[in-house]
Amino acid sequence: MEATTSIILTSGQLDQLAALARQSLPNESCAFLLGKGEKETTVTEILTMRNADESIISFSIEPKELLQAYDLAEKKKLQVIGIFHSHPARPSPSGTDIKFMEINPVVWLIYSTTNGQFKAYIYDNDVREVAVKIKE
Ligand SMILES: [Zn+2]
Repeated sequence: MEATTSIILTSGQLDQLAALARQSLPNESCAFLLGKGEKETTVTEILTMRNADESIISFSIEPKELLQAYDLAEKKKLQVIGIFHSHPARPSPSGTDIKFMEINPVVWLIYSTTNGQFKAYIYDNDVREVAVKIKE
């Protein structure tokens, strides 16, 4: 498998994720990013998930909702290529994020509701930044 170097989204998808993050305040928001690709991953669909933690410092997704998301992706012949969540702080992974990134080595897209920045990371041996590209 080729190492992932970028995640590609449309500006509309980025707007949708930023809006989700703002609506969820003060809590963190989360979503699954469905799409295709290995080296360059392209998001084709966003699945908004409920933050079961209802927390301002963490998020988690109910196992039942997780299974439904993976089922839906399979039906659409897409993959869960990324996990999105927002931070009311800098868009860098927290210690807890890194722990979950390690067991879930897809692209982790983080949006900061304080500075409006998107950053993406993946775990392969260590946390590595992935480029966020906007599809024309
Ligand atoms: Zn986080």
